[in-house]
Amino acid sequence: MRKYIMAMDQGTTSSRCILFDEQGKPASIAQKEFRQIYPKPGWVEHDAMEIWGSQMGVAQEAMHQIGANFHNIKAIGITNQRETTVIWDKITGEPVYNAIVWQCRRTAEFCDSLIKNGMSESFRKKTGLPIDAYFSATKILWILDHVPGARKRAWEGELLFGTIDTWLIWNLTKGRVHATDYSNASRTMLFNINDRVWDPEILNVLKIPQSILPEVKPSCYFFGEADPLLFGGPIPITAAAGDQQAALFGHDCFEAGMAKNTYGTGGFLLMNTGKTPVYSQKGLITTIAWGIDNQVYYALEGSIFVAGAAIQWLRDELKLIEDAKDSEKIAQATEDNNGVYFVPAFVGLGAPYWTPYARGTIVGLTRGANRNHIVRATLESIAYQTYDVVKMMEEEAGIKLSVLKVDGGAAANEFLMQFQSDLIRVPVERPKNTEITALGVANLARLAVEEQGNKEIVNKNQIEKKIFYPVMKPERQECLLKGWNRALRCTLEWAKGENP
Ligand code: ADP
Repeated sequence: MRKYIMAMDQGTTSSRCILFDEQGKPASIAQKEFRQIYPKPGWVEHDAMEIWGSQMGVAQEAMHQIGANFHNIKAIGITNQRETTVIWDKITGEPVYNAIVWQCRRTAEFCDSLIKNGMSESFRKKTGLPIDAYFSATKILWILDHVPGARKRAWEGELLFGTIDTWLIWNLTKGRVHATDYSNASRTMLFNINDRVWDPEILNVLKIPQSILPEVKPSCYFFGEADPLLFGGPIPITAAAGDQQAALFGHDCFEAGMAKNTYGTGGFLLMNTGKTPVYSQKGLITTIAWGIDNQVYYALEGSIFVAGAAIQWLRDELKLIEDAKDSEKIAQATEDNNGVYFVPAFVGLGAPYWTPYARGTIVGLTRGANRNHIVRATLESIAYQTYDVVKMMEEEAGIKLSVLKVDGGAAANEFLMQFQSDLIRVPVERPKNTEITALGVANLARLAVEEQGNKEIVNKNQIEKKIFYPVMKPERQECLLKGWNRALRCTLEWAKGENP
């Protein structure tokens, strides 16, 4: 009988499910986009029930495509958009509010007050994170403070909190298991990454009841079984990991110094730093990469809030392109950016700048600037932001990258990959299968059910790759970077004023 590992890949814009066969090859894929809700500028929400519904829908569809039933599924691994916060009723399972998405800036001012109160250092030491609206903690507080009765109900033990992995595990097990993994917990700004516990002091400062928080487990772990009613029989859930950490695993970055960048809605550069956390002085995040058995591995991370999302903006708001992939040909249709630079700071800027009040800026427009230049500037902006993070990471980790491994939707863009390699002046290595996030969590799930170590799994996966080598002249690279830095200064200047 054929056996598969099911990877549930719950992303920011879509829910995906991939069934990987014994050789680690995708045997079927199903995907569904879901609604993005923007109640106010800078605010982003999802309907948590729609997330659950779409994730189950694609799981069943992926099985249906190849006629698989529950006997054929060895294990489920869950990987997910991180930080996004759901709070729900323990009894009815109904969310008390929409999921507040990682991109949402609604708690930026509250974070400012924590910073003003001198909390930054202690939060960073404990959680590895800078105080920012990006992480779950202040999103939880917002819900408790703004949904009538929520705070009281939380303290009375009626509500549960979860990031999306927890929300899916809870629903898959019909409310029997309330758990998360180390990698997801390390993104809440509530988890002590050294002691590996929910930090009692932080919970006390923020007045968050511990009873709403999930149990924290290794990433590769038997979380429980999916309820038989869902797939016709029980299926063990044996892995959970945040999407970026899963991608790091999927790229086989098992050793300290190995790094990858994912170009999805946002951009995420992660470098494995081994068994000890490396603390950043300059705006990188220290995070847990994964936990296997009793061992926890750490990573340094630079998070770019808007990467592929800027392309979506060209498509959905400006209507300059019909499809994201059109951006490649359009950018190639012009020789250069014609002096146009775009800083897509729609929701502020993440690493390495961390300015929540920045907003998108297009500079250098002349009468001759046209659609092609704007599209090109948008793709270039993704590479410039990545360049800035790469440089900072090299400096902080004291390691020079020899290759950048890449994945994610926008990594399919040839122009972007070549431009990226030209900017950072190292080869960019793109696997043929760009579903590395799903592969990563499938490998984690497989580790729990198969008697073999990492290496064998990896060898099985031997992925075909395309490598982009730097060809741009250094003078040109420097000139472009100067332009980008000038554009960035304009954006940061704008951020100093009051947003209208
Ligand atoms: P997520 O997992 O964050 O939902 P994906 O990895 O699926 O994201 O990537 C989707 C993003 O990639 C979208 O923002 C989309 O605009 C962008 N994208 C997809 N294909 C291309 C392409 N060929 N060129 C540029 N951007 C692309």
